[in-house]
Amino acid sequence: MFRVNEDYLKLPGSYLFSTIAKKVSAFSTENPDRKIIRLGIGDVTQPLCPAVIKALHSAVDEMADASTFKGYAPDLGYDFLRNTIAQEDYKSRGCDIAADEIFVSDGAKSDSGNIQEIFSKDTRIAVCDPVYPVYVDTNVMAGRTGTYDSTTGLWSNVIYMPCTAENGFSPEFPKEVPDLIYLCYPNNPTGASITKDELQKWVDYANKNGSVIVYDAAYEAYISEENVPHSIYECEGARTCAIEIRSFSKNAGFTGTRLGFTVIPKDIKTADGVTLHQLWARRHGTKFNGAPYIVQKAGEAVYSAEGKAETKSQIAYYMNNAKYIYDGLKAAGYSVYGGVNAPYIWLKTPNNMTSWEFFDFLLDKANVVGTPGSGFGPSGEGYFRLTAFGSYENTVEAIDRIKAI
Ligand SMILES: *Cc1c(COP(=O)(O)O)cnc(C)c1O
Repeated sequence: MFRVNEDYLKLPGSYLFSTIAKKVSAFSTENPDRKIIRLGIGDVTQPLCPAVIKALHSAVDEMADASTFKGYAPDLGYDFLRNTIAQEDYKSRGCDIAADEIFVSDGAKSDSGNIQEIFSKDTRIAVCDPVYPVYVDTNVMAGRTGTYDSTTGLWSNVIYMPCTAENGFSPEFPKEVPDLIYLCYPNNPTGASITKDELQKWVDYANKNGSVIVYDAAYEAYISEENVPHSIYECEGARTCAIEIRSFSKNAGFTGTRLGFTVIPKDIKTADGVTLHQLWARRHGTKFNGAPYIVQKAGEAVYSAEGKAETKSQIAYYMNNAKYIYDGLKAAGYSVYGGVNAPYIWLKTPNNMTSWEFFDFLLDKANVVGTPGSGFGPSGEGYFRLTAFGSYENTVEAIDRIKAI
């Protein structure tokens, strides 16, 4: 009789989004006349920009002609895209990253979930709390996280780094030294960012201790402040300790189109000279047959002059929403965070309400849906996430309703 991978059975059910859906549907059944506005959404809503659509159409036409048809893409990505990324995202910012250190993929979720495979089973991981759930859950599936305590919501073999208002949502170095450290900046869900000096300290810490940092920079395009690094490779020494993961989902609306990449410098090595670059290349070659040509051409177009201008204005649209949310809630007396270098606003629930109590309160009084902070980890309790991915009209109406409570 077959047996299943029992590590999967250790995963607690993720009730967050299904509970939200159930509560919202019950509320609208009871109150059919109320217009519910969703500010919990973690997906973009603006369409692909014209430069991307143009590149998609022309790549589709190439696929229709035997002389320009493309079959399997190179496992690690087409050179036209890897060279463009190396130039536009790295060399232009003074980061020493070569095109062959860039691995093109179908997105940052796959890469941030799969990267743990190339590390030993006894690797000790550290994550921020609250956190994007993929980092922990994929390590659970790999049997690396020990046992789950349903009272505390914590795994016995995971090192948690609480991020709360008390430490400015910036993690402290853990007491026990981890092998693998997951950092995400600008952050989902807290909207926090990190300065270059702060990030340099993490790079120094990793190099001193022989740890590797997995740096998820999916929201890099939302950075608006000068002292916030766009890449971890802006820090000295990052080539020997940092993997960076990027996505086209949030900067160019590719959530349904699928494209991302991971950077692994060749200088990250074990004492025996084994590189993470060689292992990830092997993994990609064995388990991945390349992102579609059509989509890689679309990705290249994001870096064209039109593509840059058009995606920039989409981001400005979302960030204008973020500002409305941030300013409006602040004026209404809330403690509000994020929203400056990220499309997420993280707020402290008023009157010591739990995250779920505030969810119910907001749904009932303002007919607005957000995401309870406790869904991202125990240190998210007492916080609440609103996103800037809605339409401007709905965002304004939602915030004005909250202000009127
Ligand atoms: C949205 C998001 C991603 C992007 O994932 P894709 O698979 O590229 O769509 C990655 N990391 C975080 C933290 C995110 O919020």
